[in-house]
Amino acid sequence: GDDPRVHDIKTRIRVIPNFPKPGIMFQDITTLLLDAKAFKDTIDLFVDRIEARGFIFGPPIALAIGAKFVPLRKPKKLPGEVISEEYVLEYGRDCLEMHVGAIEPGERALIVDDLVATGGTLCAAMNLLERAGAEVVECACLIELPDLKGRDRLKGKPLYILVEAH
Ligand code: AMP
Repeated sequence: GDDPRVHDIKTRIRVIPNFPKPGIMFQDITTLLLDAKAFKDTIDLFVDRIEARGFIFGPPIALAIGAKFVPLRKPKKLPGEVISEEYVLEYGRDCLEMHVGAIEPGERALIVDDLVATGGTLCAAMNLLERAGAEVVECACLIELPDLKGRDRLKGKPLYILVEAH
């Protein structure tokens, strides 16, 4: 977009070629987190957007809008009873888990992650939330790799992104 904050955020994302496998252009957001202003701008931009409507960005956004935060984690990280969804990732198969009881049927949910590539992760997250009876309102990611068309796997749900990477 035209927002100079978005341009600055983009320059703080380090691209590491061939990590973790040959051919992957890894978008490393840890360098963005080193810059307090760019990190804060990222949260502000998401929060501004959410007025109408990964683990790093989700909790501060939830705090800022007064929503509860529900972690969706890789297998065996959550200590309580979980439901799981398997999915195919850009580099292999994986699985997401969510605590049973974290969501009440009928609750509205926003899915936040740092990046959408193939969309497999967001799709698995949507499936988990819908299985728990939530209404998924939107997905929001900092970075989209548009060439991978992950957007097309979101069953028509809106996807809000700040930065496109190629
Ligand atoms: P996908 O399920 O293919 O949309 O992949 C998205 C998930 O994998 C996100 O949680 C990202 O953190 C991670 N990911 C996939 N590809 C990349 C990449 N090129 N750079 C950084 N993270 C990635």
